Amino acid sequence: MRLPVNVRRFRSHGSPRRKLPLVATTNLRIAQIAENADFESVQAFRPGEWSRVEAFRPRVVAGPAPSLRELAERVELNVIDLSSVDHAVFVLTGCGDAPLQDVLRVVLWQTFGVPVYELFVAGRGLVAASECETHEGWHVSPGAAFSIVSGELIFDGFGRKSVRTGLTGWIEQTPCACGREGARLLDVEQHETHPARRLAATA
Ligand SMILES: [Zn+2]
Repeated sequence: MRLPVNVRRFRSHGSPRRKLPLVATTNLRIAQIAENADFESVQAFRPGEWSRVEAFRPRVVAGPAPSLRELAERVELNVIDLSSVDHAVFVLTGCGDAPLQDVLRVVLWQTFGVPVYELFVAGRGLVAASECETHEGWHVSPGAAFSIVSGELIFDGFGRKSVRTGLTGWIEQTPCACGREGARLLDVEQHETHPARRLAATA
């Protein structure tokens, strides 16, 4: 049995506050392609519920790269109309995921015509690092920290310790062109020896 969409709205579990960055979420309809909404004021739609997404008329869409690719394909084929999207697209990249590739970034930009921001999520609604308007790396979120162990970015924060990200990159401390200080992750790529990648390579 399918639950009505509104039953799957995000329910707050206390700190840390699980808000999407960069947008004032209270006045925007935000659709997340996921089983459950991971952020405040966000509506979840399962992959494949494309016509429901269209009916929702979101101004922001969020989801993992493969789901956003599917969504963009439906728009390009005129299966659905998402001209309502006028604020941002958030690509949610998690531990073990490949970072957003340039080709898909361009597709999303051309399809929706809004800024595309990649967010690194270390768990449900936990944004550990995120792109800013200048797209020069990922700003490390307050309460999050990264280190490099054997070439791999390791995450600590939000009550979690030594979480393998499956990513490589540099930790940059110089201020960003956007004016924000603090650490940024640069040149983030998938780590060659991550277990998930090894499995994929031998499949
Ligand atoms: Zn910045």
